[in-house]
Parts: sequence; structure tokens; C-alpha cells
Amino acid sequence: MFNEYQHLRIPGPTPVSPEVQREMNRTILGHRSEGFSRFFAETLHKTKYIFQTKQDVFAVAASGTGALEMAVSNVVEAGDTVLVVVTGVFGERFAKIVKAYQGNAIILKFELGRAAQPQKIQEVLESHPEIKAIFVTHCETSTGVVNPIKKIGDMAKKSNALLIVDSVSALVGMDLKMDNWGIDIAVTAAHKALGLPPGLSLIAVSEKAWKRIRQHHGPRFYWDLLSYKKNIGKQTTPFTAPVSLIYGLSKSIDLIQQEGLEQGFQRHNLLRDMLRAAIPALNLELFVPNDEEASSTVTSIKGSTHLDVEELRRVLRENYKIDVAGGQQNLKGKIFRIGHMGYMHPMDMLTTIAGLEMALKHLSYPMELGMGIRAAEEVWLNAENIGQ
Ligand SMILES: *Cc1c(COP(=O)(O)O)cnc(C)c1O
Repeated sequence: MFNEYQHLRIPGPTPVSPEVQREMNRTILGHRSEGFSRFFAETLHKTKYIFQTKQDVFAVAASGTGALEMAVSNVVEAGDTVLVVVTGVFGERFAKIVKAYQGNAIILKFELGRAAQPQKIQEVLESHPEIKAIFVTHCETSTGVVNPIKKIGDMAKKSNALLIVDSVSALVGMDLKMDNWGIDIAVTAAHKALGLPPGLSLIAVSEKAWKRIRQHHGPRFYWDLLSYKKNIGKQTTPFTAPVSLIYGLSKSIDLIQQEGLEQGFQRHNLLRDMLRAAIPALNLELFVPNDEEASSTVTSIKGSTHLDVEELRRVLRENYKIDVAGGQQNLKGKIFRIGHMGYMHPMDMLTTIAGLEMALKHLSYPMELGMGIRAAEEVWLNAENIGQ
């Protein structure tokens, strides 16, 4: 009976709402047909709202990494010096892509579980005026920190460097003001806080970035932003658009507009705060110690000698139908991560915490049933009007 029953609590893919699911079942139109072109143009226009930008936003059929590669391949030429801010696996990924395009990456690394310090970035920028771009992850999904993009944007505005932000696991879950913050390229993907299935990414590009892209000589084909720009004028894409995902995107943005971006950020904050209250109440330790550095879309929790996180994940999945993520690379076996973005209601945090309590009990972890739920309920009761 419950073959398909699940609580997807990984940081992407995330649950898809019934509204979006239904929308994606619509008839597949020809990707160059008049009907689809009009719909596509309207949908892309709506994406400006979620990036808080007046600039064009482009849709590309790819997972998030594809759009990150698109950003790199359009601005980094062989031998270019760029700064890559690394707070975890996704910062490292940016560095790997830069190296693949033969860029000279200056890597500024911060302790895992801590956010990037703008002061340190400023120092590197001052000592390396040749830096052509700053690559930074908005929410570092591998640890659950949120990086101070606005402050980094203030520095980028004053320099010649472009600011390129991986907001794949943050956009619409946390504030990102593309124009106001001075972001030159911002990237997000469908299967995170937008609550769509995987396969679509969005990339927004500033005027400052276009100047660079027009002069760019590096190799690229599928990722060539100039061809996307040329085609957007004709209300289409250079290659076949992921038609169903565009239907879904349109509906997803309608739902986000209905809730209001700001109200959505507050809901995500509440989900974070409920978990951050419950975790210590269950005698567990948060991986990101500082509340102000904690992501509103993903929360990491430490394992210990008393808690085998992989075993916990197995019990959560098998007994309680809750799917949480493990640690990546160096953090494998050391932490587990709860994704809480997109189509996620505060009630979903209560079910997640309830399952977590039972799984901990099952593993004889020293904690008291109900303490996590109680702490989270108190947080929710104090936050009015969220999730209505
Ligand atoms: C999920 C994610 C990506 C993209 O990963 P894909 O598997 O390529 O979709 C990129 N950056 C961050 C921060 C992410 O969370």
C-alpha cells in the first residue's frame, strides 16, 4: 500500500506540489510552436521576480552543475585569474569547473560549518587586482551555511571583478537581490527550493557580465549564453526546451507569488528555527554553530560515537519513510542533513522530528521522546500566520 509513500527531506530533489505535478501533465506542445513560445516568454518574464532583477533570465535544460559550467565557460578564459570562495563541496565544484576551463583559481577556503568572511575576501581582492571574477556559493548545501552575498556584492561593485553566485539551494528559500546586491551571474536549479523535478536550471546575467561575455573567446557550444540571448528575442531556446518543466516552473512561480517572496523567506526561516530548536533538545549537535550563519533550506546534524549517522538514516528510511541526506566527501559518516526547502510546510518539520525521535529511540540514543517536538512546536506557536 505505501510503496510510494515518502517524506523527501534531502536538499534536492525536493517534494513537488500537486499543483505543479498536475501542470506538468499538460500536453507537450512543439517547442517552437506559437503557443509554447508565448508561454515560454511569459514564464521567463515571471522568473525576474524570483531573482529580483530587471535583467534577462535564461532557462537551460541541465542540472544545476550544467548552469554553473555555463557561468564559468562564458567568462573564464585560459589563464584568467579568478577567486573561488570555498565553504564546502559546492565551492570546490566551482573551483574544479574553473580549472577545467584552464582558469587560474585563487582558492579562499573557510572552515567547514562556518560562513565565508567578507573581510578575508576583501584582502584577497586588494592584493590581486587581476582577479576577473569572484565565484561564491550562496547556500553551501554540503554543510548548511549561508554566505554573506550582499556584503560580497558591495565589494564586487567597487571592483572590475564579476560576482558569480551559485544560489542553487538558496533562491526563493533565502533572499537574493540580483540587481540591488550587484550580482553579475546568479544560478539556480529546478529541483531545490522551486519544488520542480530535476532537469532545468535558470541563469540571470547582468549588464556588467554581458560586456565580458561579448568579448569572450573561450570555447563553449551548448553553454554559449550569446546563443541563448539571441534566441530569447525570438521567444525560444537554442535547443529543445524541457517543455513539461517550463509548465511546472510557471505554476511554481505563481505559487511563490501567491505566498509572497518575503513570506516565503520567513517560512523557510521558521523551518530552520524549528529544527535548530529541536536538535539540541534531543541531545544532538548542530553542525553549524552560529544561528546567523545557518541556512534556511538545509540543516546539518553531527553524528558521534553514540550515533552512527548512516544507521540512523537507514532506520529513518526503512521504518519511518523519511529520506535524509548523509555527509559528502570528508563529512561522510560524520553528519546527516535535512533538506527543508520549497514545497515544505512547518507541519513537515514536526513529522520529520517525530520520525527522528523514534529512530533515535530505536537506536537507544540517550534522549527523551517528545522533547524535540515540544521545542519545535513552541517555535511554531510563536510565529504567526506562516504556512496558511
Ligand atoms: C544541488 C546543488 C547544485 C547542483 O547540483 P546538480 O546535481 O548538478 O543539480 C549546485 N550547487 C549547490 C549549492 C547545490 O545545492
